[in-house]
Amino acid sequence: RSYSFRSKAKNLDFDIKKEGKLPINVIGDQIRLNQILSNLLSNALKFTKQGCITVTIQEIERNNKQSKLEFAVKDTGIGIPPEKQSAIFENYTQASSDTTRRYGGTGLGLAICKRLVELQGGSISVESEPGTGSTFRFSLLFGLSDDNVKTEDIQAVEIFTGLEGKKIL
Ligand code: ADP
Repeated sequence: RSYSFRSKAKNLDFDIKKEGKLPINVIGDQIRLNQILSNLLSNALKFTKQGCITVTIQEIERNNKQSKLEFAVKDTGIGIPPEKQSAIFENYTQASSDTTRRYGGTGLGLAICKRLVELQGGSISVESEPGTGSTFRFSLLFGLSDDNVKTEDIQAVEIFTGLEGKKIL
């Protein structure tokens, strides 16, 4: 949600596509998944001036215990030259010597993503064309919860009674 707001502020379209049938519940490391997606989305936003950012999620394998999901973060930004595409996953490496001056950053985000993905047994890769955009793709294995366990989304009820006339910071 925060990245969709930040995209709007930059006049970029933001879309999340769930392809095919995805499991309703999966068991995995929510915090690490969030870190990986946050790093990739921050980069997508930083290196894209116009166009759109799309997150696509699809299931690529499933057995009765596990589901392998692939996440792709696609942008229409500056792109990465082919000869730099493997180096950017290394610590403190950026695609060009003027990246820090023009866009800021440390060159650490993708190295962290790669580690977080590989520590969970997954893999990460990039496809990119300078001037057209980049797609970062990673896949992770998630546990499947018992189909009998149903969960329900509970809507938070906003109650404001009793707050009339109060001053709230
Ligand atoms: P940082 O963004 O802090 O420089 P990262 O490790 O996240 O460090 O990225 C390394 C480099 O890879 C970036 O400096 C940039 O040159 C390139 N890069 C990463 N993501 C993108 C993207 N979506 N579009 C274009 N270049 C990218």
